[in-house]
Amino acid sequence: MPNIVPQDRTCKQPARGYCMNPLCMEKRGERFEFDTEHSPVVCPKCKADKSPLVGVLVLIHFLYHDPAGGPITGSDGMDYRVACDTERAYLATVTNQEAASGDISVVNCAGCLKAAKDKKLAKVQGWALFADKP
Ligand SMILES: [Zn+2]
Ligand SMILES: [Zn+2]
Repeated sequence: MPNIVPQDRTCKQPARGYCMNPLCMEKRGERFEFDTEHSPVVCPKCKADKSPLVGVLVLIHFLYHDPAGGPITGSDGMDYRVACDTERAYLATVTNQEAASGDISVVNCAGCLKAAKDKKLAKVQGWALFADKP
């Protein structure tokens, strides 16, 4: 079966695909990752398109606290926005293979990384707001 990116996944950002073919690895022991169109997912190197050899990574968005309000209310009761789509009012669904984190180091959404950098979200907000209290 070809790999199809879930229908309800955001199409505003490139999908990130991976290939487990050892011949495609660029670093020893690390799967090869590539930007891909949303369907079907094909490895640009070996042209494989079948899971589990190739697949799409969970897209992890950057979630930031907006003191002025935002469409997403966190479990802490504060308002948040998704950096690449600030009006978006939902995070992950059962099928969209998306996730969100306040920790920029695990974010892999190209749009969120750019927005965080351009708007200096990660710096302005400070890590203290995101990190779990020690
Ligand atoms: Zn490959
Ligand atoms: Zn994003």
